[in-house]
Parts: sequence; structure tokens; C-alpha cells
Amino acid sequence: MMSSVPANNRKSKLLVYTIEECPVCGQKMKRAFQVGDYITKEGAACSKCGNATRVGLVYAETSKPSG
Ligand SMILES: [Zn+2]
Repeated sequence: MMSSVPANNRKSKLLVYTIEECPVCGQKMKRAFQVGDYITKEGAACSKCGNATRVGLVYAETSKPSG
């Protein structure tokens, strides 16, 4: 079990996502950002055609506190 994070941060968190895009079929896959990701980095295999995807976009959005 990990040590608990202090619960004093009531601000909405920033969630960062990476969009991997297949250059062959155009399939886009959204996943959580991982340290080291950058635009044009080679991503996972395309879920449609199996070709290597490229990171086309990295963006952040705020998580909604509730509901
Ligand atoms: Zn593809």
C-alpha cells in the first residue's frame, strides 16, 4: 500500500492525456500521459491495423470534483 497523500489539496487536479495517432489508418487512441511522452514519439501498435502509432497530441484537462 502506498503512503497516503495529504488531503489538503481541494483544487481540481490536472489530468494529462496523450493522443496516439496511427499514420496509416488515422485511428486515434487516448491514454494517460506518461513521463517521457512527447509529440512524434512512437506509440503503441494501432488497435485497428497494427502499425506503430505516433504521439500527435498531449493535453491536459481538469478533473471534475464530483458528479
Ligand atoms: Zn492504424
